[in-house]
Parts: sequence; structure tokens; C-alpha cells
Amino acid sequence: MYLTHLECPRCGREHDAASPANLCGCGSPLLARYDLAAVARVVTPERFPLRPADLWRYRELLPVADPRHVTTLGEGWTPLLRAPAYGAEIGIPDLIVKDEGLTPTGSFKARGAAVGVSRARELGVARIAMPTNGNAGAAWATYAARAGIGATIVMPVAAPGICRRECVAAGADLRLVDGLISDAGRLVAGLVADSGGAVFDAGTLREPYRLEGKKTMGYEIVEQLGWQAPDVIIYPTGGGVGLIGIHKAVHELRELGWIEDRLPRLVAVQSTGCAPIVRAFAAGEERARPWADARTVAFGITVPAPLGDELVLTALRESAGTAIAVDDAELLADLREFAAREGLLLCPEGAACLTAARHLRAGGWIRAGERVVVLNTGAGLKYPETVDVADLPVLPA
Ligand SMILES: *Cc1c(COP(=O)(O)O)cnc(C)c1O
Ligand SMILES: [Zn+2]
Repeated sequence: MYLTHLECPRCGREHDAASPANLCGCGSPLLARYDLAAVARVVTPERFPLRPADLWRYRELLPVADPRHVTTLGEGWTPLLRAPAYGAEIGIPDLIVKDEGLTPTGSFKARGAAVGVSRARELGVARIAMPTNGNAGAAWATYAARAGIGATIVMPVAAPGICRRECVAAGADLRLVDGLISDAGRLVAGLVADSGGAVFDAGTLREPYRLEGKKTMGYEIVEQLGWQAPDVIIYPTGGGVGLIGIHKAVHELRELGWIEDRLPRLVAVQSTGCAPIVRAFAAGEERARPWADARTVAFGITVPAPLGDELVLTALRESAGTAIAVDDAELLADLREFAAREGLLLCPEGAACLTAARHLRAGGWIRAGERVVVLNTGAGLKYPETVDVADLPVLPA
């Protein structure tokens, strides 16, 4: 294994990676660091096509030492789908969708769960607990079941019903809360504190390895494009783990010497109903203030106070990216338009990225001829209510 230590991006302190870790003493999330020079000596990009089509093909850049601890359902290596018809319509002919809807548990949260649970298992964790907007809880409950680890999941009662069912099916201890993910977070904090160390807090960015799973989206995009970075990557941002992960991934690839210096511009998409990152980015602030009265149909990005705000804002600025908020009615219309044009039913969060792409192209931020990759972070099939069929006439038999 090439994992060397954990590093605090805020105060620079180094932490031991050999035991379960949460936040730095300064309150910042921790990042996993590897001996990249050693990795570059043992593997080259030409080797990857010979490996299995899942995220474990990048095992030298992942934090699991013993292959027996790898907990997998075949996650990763999702397709990059060209969307020329819809793309031409919005002035981005080289529009590409990375379809995470094909991941186990129906969302890209499976990437974070696969790596996070595998590492937790390796470090001897017996039970995890986490707040969630639905998909993360479903994924972690599922992978925890597969690893033989207990899971306590706390989610808003308004979260998609399918996620609730996935947790129950996986045998998790599921608690519903009449509030937002931030309220669920307070409940989990109490539960973990009362457990006297028996329960490990696996909340978003509260442990460092979920991010390592999600960063593999960045590796895959680059490998699938022939070790070329696209011009722009558009990501629906809640806690921001995927965006921070992709940023980390492309920097690691550059340090490995596997891609050239030009890195993709990263775009954080939020809803006008919950846009703390967009507001902070526009104001040039380093931290985001909590968003009051958060609400949007794109439930996965309803995160009023993201813990990784600083890291998201840094990634946006360092990559010459931007942040944009989109309206629910527009994203639902784009979801329908895209399905009819391209035959792919997106999740609302993925559709939000299309709305963002459309606006950014119309405003000139995305330039003619640029290659744009949009993340569809979940399966449209998990959100059947985005397509209204109530008015269809029923013919007499
Ligand atoms: C969780 C989630 C997001 C947001 O991911 P973060 O890492 O929290 O930014 C986007 N889309 C879907 C479908 C999700 O479940
Ligand atoms: Zn620190």
C-alpha cells in the first residue's frame, strides 16, 4: 500500500493513517496522502486497460492494504455517454455525461462507501453511524452489510423513500428525523459521543476515505478520454465530496506525470433553494455561511452547511472554475428534454448540471467547441416522481 499519512489542508498537521481518524483538531477534514513517486515507479497508465472494469483498478492510489478487506459490488468504471443531440441544441456539441446511475445502489455514493467501508473494516471498525440525504446512507448500509459491520443511518423523513427501503433491506439501524441533514448530523454526533468509542462517525468528510472512493470519478474521466482532461467538469454539489475528490484526483495524476499541466475547470452546481457555496463563491469568501430554509427537488444537494466548504471553494478557484445555482422548474424541464433527446433518464441532481451547462454556454463562460463532462450522480429510476403521468387518459378495456 502506498498510503503514507493523513494531512490537514487547513493547518498542515500530519496524522497517522493506521487508526480510524475523523477531523483534525482544528476542525478541518483530513486528506489521504500517498507516496506518488513510488506509485509512478510500479505502475504506468498502459497497465490499467488490462485490469478489472471497476474502481479497484486504481488500487495503488487507494487506501486498502489487504485485498481481503476490499468490499465490492462491482462499483466504478461507469460509461461516458456522448450527448450530441442535446449538446448541439445548447451549443455544446462535445457534451458528455458520466452515468453514475449504473453504480450499485443507484448512485455514485457507492464509490465512497466501497472504499470507506473497506478501510473501516481494515482498521477494525465494528459499527458506523452517519447522517444522510438518502443515497449515502443506502450505500453505506449496503456495503456495511457486505463487510459484516453494523450501521446506524439517520436521514430526513423527506428523503427519497427508496433510500429508506435500501437501508432497511440491508439490516441497518435506520432513524428518521423531521428536519434536514444538518439536524440528522446533530443526532449522529450525540449518538457517537454517547457510544464511548464503539461507534465510528462516517459522516460526509468526517472520515478521510469516502473522498478517496469518489476521487476515482476523476481518474476514470481522464483515462476514458485517453489520459486527457476535458475542458470543464460540472458537478452537483451538496457536501462537495465528489468535486473535492475530482480536484484531488487530477492533481495526483499531474504529480504522477500521467496528464499534462492543463487541468479541467470545475463547476459546482447548486439549487437556488440551497446555494451556500454559490453565494460564498460570488462574494469571494473563503467559508460558506449556512443557508436558511433549504429546499429543492434535487434532494441530494440539499446541504445547508457543508463541512467541506473551504475545500470546495479552493478547488473552484484553483481550477479557474465557477459556481452556479439553478431553478427547480428549469432542471425538471431539462431532465425531460434530455430523456426525450438522448434516451437517458437523469436524476434531478444530474439534470441540474445540464441546466447549468446551458446557462454557462449562453453566458459565454463555456466557450464554443469545449469538451464538457457532466456528472449524472444517480439513477433516474430512483426518482420516478420527476416524470408526472397523473394526467394520462386510461382507455376502457
Ligand atoms: C449526495 C449526492 C450528490 C451530492 O454529493 P456531495 O458529495 O454531497 O456533493 C449529488 N447527487 C446525488 C444523486 C447525491 O446522492
Ligand atoms: Zn488542522
